[in-house]
Amino acid sequence: MRKKGFFTTNLHSDRCDSPEHGVLHKAIHPSVAYGYEDARHLAEVFQGKREGYNYGRQLNPTVTALQNRITKMEDGHASIAFATGMAAISSTMLALLKSGDHLIASSFLFGNTNSFFTTLERFGIEVSFVDATDVSNISAAIKENTRAVFVETIANPATQIADLDAIGELCTDHSILYVVDNTMTSPFLFLPRSAKASLSINALTKYIGGHGNALGGTVTDTGCFDWETYPNIIDDYKAGDHSLWGVLQIKKKGLRDMGGALGPEAAHHLAVGSETLPLRLNRACDNALALAQFCEAHPKISRTFYPGLESHLQHQRAGRLFRKYGAIFSVELADVVDCFEFLNCMDTVVSSSNLGDNRTLGIPVAQTIFYEMGAERRAAMGISDSMVRFSVGIEELEDLLENFEKALG
Ligand SMILES: *Cc1c(COP(=O)(O)O)cnc(C)c1O
Repeated sequence: MRKKGFFTTNLHSDRCDSPEHGVLHKAIHPSVAYGYEDARHLAEVFQGKREGYNYGRQLNPTVTALQNRITKMEDGHASIAFATGMAAISSTMLALLKSGDHLIASSFLFGNTNSFFTTLERFGIEVSFVDATDVSNISAAIKENTRAVFVETIANPATQIADLDAIGELCTDHSILYVVDNTMTSPFLFLPRSAKASLSINALTKYIGGHGNALGGTVTDTGCFDWETYPNIIDDYKAGDHSLWGVLQIKKKGLRDMGGALGPEAAHHLAVGSETLPLRLNRACDNALALAQFCEAHPKISRTFYPGLESHLQHQRAGRLFRKYGAIFSVELADVVDCFEFLNCMDTVVSSSNLGDNRTLGIPVAQTIFYEMGAERRAAMGISDSMVRFSVGIEELEDLLENFEKALG
């Protein structure tokens, strides 16, 4: 049977799961606790013998509806939602790794993920940061105790694109868990499953929610990974269907024990926001391409980083793997331009740290989100002091171009 399109599937997601009263939006259920037919029913739910809700930290009907929505978007097997993207990343990795394991991570990572991985090192997990734009670097870093590889699709701020499908082949051959942070592309631009990723993580806070009004994160099991080969699954979680072992362990050890649960109000905001993801992201990507082309041709800008430019090192790869080139681009300003003055001259572009908002946001990166990392690590990541990152929104292109022209003038 022909599969329905991205818009259609997403828009009708809540309704298809027969919600109460036939509502088209899943209701916001603020209840922390649940009632049962009788005490035996309560016990059976706790023992996993009957389906049901036991406590708001682990399950909530509004959150479940959002999880199902993301699973459909990712064409995945199952998803678990968390309070933030970072909660999804940290809970997942802590649930699935243990001391003595080795993790290979891209050296081009979201700053807080990078910081979290250095925390893992303090718990006895060895982390190798390698340039993931070339699979041979990952391959060379594999050791006997390598349990997982973690990469992002389009890295922030210099927009490097990991060797996504080749890494998928490599991890499949070695039975290594392959975790892809899909935040920058979202399932609308890229399905990690198509590159044989085991888990896809989305910070819903960004493009999926899209309005900068709610935090949230998910991890989706793509169904590609054979959990029976994974040595870190705890015996207690090996009882049922083995395709769900990973999700069960993330849910018990990550969500239940670490407690980063998504609230039902935020889940509702994120679900509503997600309905227009393809409309927003299409337009933001088109705006980003036009602005990046403008910047690349401008004499006061020395470098422009955007996967949609032919000068981008992974331009071909991006074209092959992604529906569009994303809505983030960065520039390095020529010496005569001060990055603070440059941003201060803009009125449509907001100076802000977020990304994936409907509004265009700009930030000088070395002085802010990558400040704590220190000069040496920044240099290794190709982040110069004059770099400014833009998260392009859905304003009229003419207004954005006018702002850039004025600020550079
Ligand atoms: C923002 C972001 C995160 C973290 O998401 P939060 O919801 O802010 O915790 C993780 N990965 C990437 C690539 C991000 O851009």
